[in-house]
Amino acid sequence: MADGRTVEELAGVLEREHDLDPDGLIRLLTAPEAEPLRRAADRVRAKSVGAEVHLRGLIEFSNYCRGSCYYCGLRAGNHRIRRYRMTPGEIIATARQAVALGLKTIVLQSGEDLFYTEKELCAIVSALKNMDVAVTLSIGERPKSVYAALKRAGADRFLLRIETSNEALYTRLHPGMSYQNRVRSLYTLKELGYEIGTGCLVGLPGQTPAMLAADLLFFKKLDADMIGMGPFLPAPGTPLAGAAGGEVEPVLRMMALARLLMPAINMPATTALSVKDNDGYQKGLSWGANVIMPNMGRREYKRLYAIYPGKRDIPPAEQLVKIKAVLVELGREVGRGYGGRKK
Ligand code: SAM
Ligand code: SF4
Repeated sequence: MADGRTVEELAGVLEREHDLDPDGLIRLLTAPEAEPLRRAADRVRAKSVGAEVHLRGLIEFSNYCRGSCYYCGLRAGNHRIRRYRMTPGEIIATARQAVALGLKTIVLQSGEDLFYTEKELCAIVSALKNMDVAVTLSIGERPKSVYAALKRAGADRFLLRIETSNEALYTRLHPGMSYQNRVRSLYTLKELGYEIGTGCLVGLPGQTPAMLAADLLFFKKLDADMIGMGPFLPAPGTPLAGAAGGEVEPVLRMMALARLLMPAINMPATTALSVKDNDGYQKGLSWGANVIMPNMGRREYKRLYAIYPGKRDIPPAEQLVKIKAVLVELGREVGRGYGGRKK
């Protein structure tokens, strides 16, 4: 049983074996002390993926969404936000600016917007691939045939968070969506040869430490290449607008545990973490992260892509200056190359 073991011992087991029973994970999520966990995760991060921090240029190209996720400001039922769609030309021009700033991965993210045809999306992916970058998609659930066409067009990676691996909680928070389909989509993407990213929200109403521990084991079983986790931030105009929201420390512990369980993953210090805490990037990078995703979009679109409130309005070039200053402060360096998962 894990119960008799100290935090140091449990962190030590994880550091050596990259595995731990659910009770041990729960203990590390809830123990009063977490510094041994942070230190172990930082050592494993340094040993497995090194000092490099990969910068991925995020383009939020549409805030239209057919989904109704209870926590998200983009949900279809939120009539308070003005909707926008970038044209393929705008998306490609924005990507070109990101490439000019030195970024080697472009992440295309949107609500679940069926407006763009498979052909249009494939053309955008091909245009980006001609810029010699890795392309990551984050556009939600689509049929296998669409995922396959986008892969053929050159897409390299796909982000699809499970949000919570607890089926009952998932079902409560995602009306009209199916937990089984979410899981199936992840396995389909993997089978098609994408590097896959998943992750969860931390601090959802009704979420327990046992559920978070199960999320970590779900990621490990899936053998995800990337894990993104951030605090749930209550968004106006959603059914959870009045909920408490997630805290920073549990997110950091989840990140450390993910790094220890899956040493070679790519893991961002998320924007949500940096919104919740001014030092979110520094903290995330010290608790196992090795990726940051600066926003490349125009000011007006950034404001309208209101999944949660509080996003900062900093132009792309200035964001990069700030991020590089953080890396210098932490003795880290900007990643060279595309920053795919280390084998
Ligand atoms: N529509 C796609 C999807 O759901 O996979 C991609 C875009 S969606 C806005 C990207 C992520 O935003 C989601 O996976 C979710 O975890 C996160 N998100 C949504 N609402 C949030 C909130 N209120 N607080 C923190 N993160 C949130
Ligand atoms: Fe739509 Fe994604 Fe937001 Fe859900 S999380 S409402 S699918 S944008």
